[in-house]
Amino acid sequence: MIKIKFETFTKTLEKLENTSSQNEMVDILAETFKNLGEDEIGEVCYLVLGEIGPGYEDVNLGLSEKTVQSAISLASGYDKAHVGEEIRNIGDIGEVASKMLKDSEKKFKRLLDEHKDPSVNDIYKGFRKIAFASGKGSQKVKIETLASMLLDADDMGRRYIARYANGKMRLGIGDMTVLNGLSVSFFGSKKEKKELEHAYNISSDIGLIARTLSSRGLQGVKEIKISLNRPIKAMLAQRVSEFQDIREKIKSRDIAAEEKFDGERIQAHKDGNNIKLFSRRLTDITDQFPDLIEHIQKYVKVEKAILDGEAMAYDFQEELFGSFQILMQRRRKYGIKEYRKKIPVRYMLFDVLYVDEESFMHKSYPERREKLETIVEGSKYISLANRRVSSDLDDIDDFFQECITKNLEGIVCKSCAEDSYYKAGGREWTWIKWKKEYLSELSDTLDLVIVGAFAGRGRRSGTYGALLCAAYNSDEDVFQTVCKLGTGFSDEQLANLPKTLEDAKVDKSPARVTVTKEMSPDFWFTPKYVVEVLGSEITKSPVHTCNWNESEKQGLALRFPRFIRWREEKSPEQATSSNEILQMYER
Ligand code: ATP
Repeated sequence: MIKIKFETFTKTLEKLENTSSQNEMVDILAETFKNLGEDEIGEVCYLVLGEIGPGYEDVNLGLSEKTVQSAISLASGYDKAHVGEEIRNIGDIGEVASKMLKDSEKKFKRLLDEHKDPSVNDIYKGFRKIAFASGKGSQKVKIETLASMLLDADDMGRRYIARYANGKMRLGIGDMTVLNGLSVSFFGSKKEKKELEHAYNISSDIGLIARTLSSRGLQGVKEIKISLNRPIKAMLAQRVSEFQDIREKIKSRDIAAEEKFDGERIQAHKDGNNIKLFSRRLTDITDQFPDLIEHIQKYVKVEKAILDGEAMAYDFQEELFGSFQILMQRRRKYGIKEYRKKIPVRYMLFDVLYVDEESFMHKSYPERREKLETIVEGSKYISLANRRVSSDLDDIDDFFQECITKNLEGIVCKSCAEDSYYKAGGREWTWIKWKKEYLSELSDTLDLVIVGAFAGRGRRSGTYGALLCAAYNSDEDVFQTVCKLGTGFSDEQLANLPKTLEDAKVDKSPARVTVTKEMSPDFWFTPKYVVEVLGSEITKSPVHTCNWNESEKQGLALRFPRFIRWREEKSPEQATSSNEILQMYER
């Protein structure tokens, strides 16, 4: 068993920090993975992503600055106020940890051989101990553990440990970069990335993929199955600009049009009475919806199941669905009991992926729907999406009209073909959305990632004049700019922009963000915040990098963009893709 030293690993972190080239990152990772044993490769994957376990685990390191400050004080012997002052002066908490421990070595004549030369595994275990410490006395455990990790590490190590602990590790690396790194490391090129990605889409655990690859090779990865309590990446729907196109795109004779709900996508895992709920971002949101848990326990008639659906705010007296904005008030850590009463929810189901040890992902949509009907006892709290199945588009249009008179968002048309599988993480032509907003002159909105901002002038001085927004290019695993967004914000939203975006601010162009010289912003943000934006059209542009065509020296831009709302439930990689924007442009 190889045990990579944390000191060696920090050299990798340094190299990763100093490049913004996606290909270089892949090569650096591939080289690092080559020297790792089965036990540590998973840990390294989490750590390069700034995490300490699979995202769904609901464990967060992110200690407050005050706690890290106390640990630096304990480790260095300087009092807290002095550490606080250094943090204010220097800014980077990693730098502070490294400087103050060095100063303290000189001042208190500590010996360098106190360093224990910890392995990555030692540091990883320390972080997990901190993250899992809870209850009485846990704050003391956190501070002492962190202080001893800082003492054990070398100068560079301390820098990174403090940043990790404070949730400030921002290498700008995404999951896809790590998967590419694994493919290059094990197979010499990116050729097996698709296979790794598939396993990742159904398991949501990059460490598991790495460990399996290391111990059992590609065959082992191919055998990874969906499992209870590990979320599966949601299947997504395509869009068309003409209603008639739905007929052409869906290959089966029958089209199943389902009601489309505008709530929160929730994947429910039922394991006996133990129920977990996962959000669109695949995070554990079980605690937010005690009412949904009870409904699932009562109305889902099998021991084990994985269900897909949309939670909707619902007025049970008036029998009316509430808007997405109303439902969002349920996204909270405190006051859950009160809001459960205030804004009750109803779970509208539309898919089933697993029932009693059997995966349903490779069964057709009609088979999955039939199963769903048999395992759920319909009630006012939990029900299946209504639908109309027909080969005739006029019928489907009638159903759409019925849906919008019920104040629903529209319909999702689903293929009934034999191969209409549930494609985890896929945006497939077997599901096509059609919304009422397509009927008006307005086009569909885009969800874009904020990567930069321009300083405000005049009335906007003190805040940002405009935000630089990007789409995600999943083929290249980069964020490409598509518009400058300055309108649609309320005065309050506008004034708050610097505060809202503060924790994503970085001092240089983040890795994986591509910008032309002309669009270089005054401030940079690591891809984190997603906004919904409405625009008038998509045109070619020499200043935006979305779908950049090197020979024409042009990309695509969204004209006259307007802010609609924040999309907290989307991760940057779930933003509108460059490919989708290209499709819209071509239409
Ligand atoms: P997307 O989910 O496609 O990235 P989005 O989050 O902006 O985009 P929409 O474009 O409004 O959402 O529509 C797709 C979403 O509709 C699905 O992700 C799902 O959450 C939701 N949805 C509602 N009803 C259904 C249904 N019956 N079948 C499938 N999805 C549905």
